[in-house]
Amino acid sequence: MSSHPTPGVLEVITGPMFSGKSEELIRRLKRARIARQRVMCFKPDIDLRYHRTAIASHSSQTHEAITVANVERLREALYPQLDNIEVVGVDEVQFFDPDIIPLAVELIALGKRVIVAGLDTTFAAEPFGPVPNLMAISDTVTKLSAVCMVCGAAAIHTQRLGQSQELVVVGAAGLYEARCRAHFRPFMDEHASEQLELSSVLESPEKI
Ligand SMILES: [Zn+2]
Repeated sequence: MSSHPTPGVLEVITGPMFSGKSEELIRRLKRARIARQRVMCFKPDIDLRYHRTAIASHSSQTHEAITVANVERLREALYPQLDNIEVVGVDEVQFFDPDIIPLAVELIALGKRVIVAGLDTTFAAEPFGPVPNLMAISDTVTKLSAVCMVCGAAAIHTQRLGQSQELVVVGAAGLYEARCRAHFRPFMDEHASEQLELSSVLESPEKI
C-alpha cells in the first residue's frame, strides 16, 4: 500500500426506523462486491434481532457482518485485514461510542470507502450518538424517510410505543413505528401499532 493513498470517502445513510437504511447499506455493499471490491461489515452486538452474524433489513435482505462490542473491538477485527479491504460497512452505527468518528477519519485517510447506516434521532427526537458528527464530516448523507403510520405522509420520526423510557430497545416488534412531524408524540403512551415488519410476522405472530 502506498504511504499516501488516494483518500477514501464516508457515506452516511440515516433516517428513522422503517426507512430502509439497512436495505440501502446492503444494496451498496452488494454492488461493491459485484465490482470485485472486498468488503467487511460490522454491527454492534446490541442488535439481537434476526442474525448474530449478519445485518438484516426489515425487508429481509441480509449481508454478512461481524458483531463487535465496541469500536476498540471493531478496530481489532478490521486492522489485521485492512490491506485486503476496500469497503467498510457499519450498521446501527448510532450504538457505537464516539471513537467511531476518529476511526472513520483514519479509514478515509487510508483510502477506504466507509459506509455507515444508523438512526439520526432517538425516540425523543434528539440527535443519536455519533451519527450527527459522522453526518458533518461525511462526503454524502442519504437521509431516508419512512411512512407515517397515522396518515401515510413521509415520516422522519421514530415513535416509541409503550412506557419504556430506555434509550435502547432493539428489535422489539410493535414497540416503534414511523411518524411524520404532525403525528409524532414523544413520551406518549400508546400501545397498538399497525407497523408491519418481517420480524413481527416471523417472531411474534401473537402480537398484542
Ligand atoms: Zn402523519
